[in-house]
Amino acid sequence: MSNIVINTGDQQHKYCQSCGMQMSKDPKKGGTNIDGSKNEMYCSYCFEGGRFREESLTVDGMKERAKRKFKEMGFPSFLAGFMTRGIPNLKRWKAKG
Ligand SMILES: [Zn+2]
Repeated sequence: MSNIVINTGDQQHKYCQSCGMQMSKDPKKGGTNIDGSKNEMYCSYCFEGGRFREESLTVDGMKERAKRKFKEMGFPSFLAGFMTRGIPNLKRWKAKG
């Protein structure tokens, strides 16, 4: 089951696979690996130095956090809700399911 990819092609890495944020909105354009190289799967808010900043965060916690973040960025709440609906399908959370 874990091999199923919902977003195929170039869509896959345009969004952080932890919070769903557009990578282009990330000022650092991606997180960092343990060796300091760029990690393009996760944004700098989620992933730094080879680990998640909040290891214990649950998928629901992330949805709430992302919703707040989208609103801060000026998205209307219906859109924020829509955008966070896909979070459980992102790589970080799918691996756990
Ligand atoms: Zn992220």
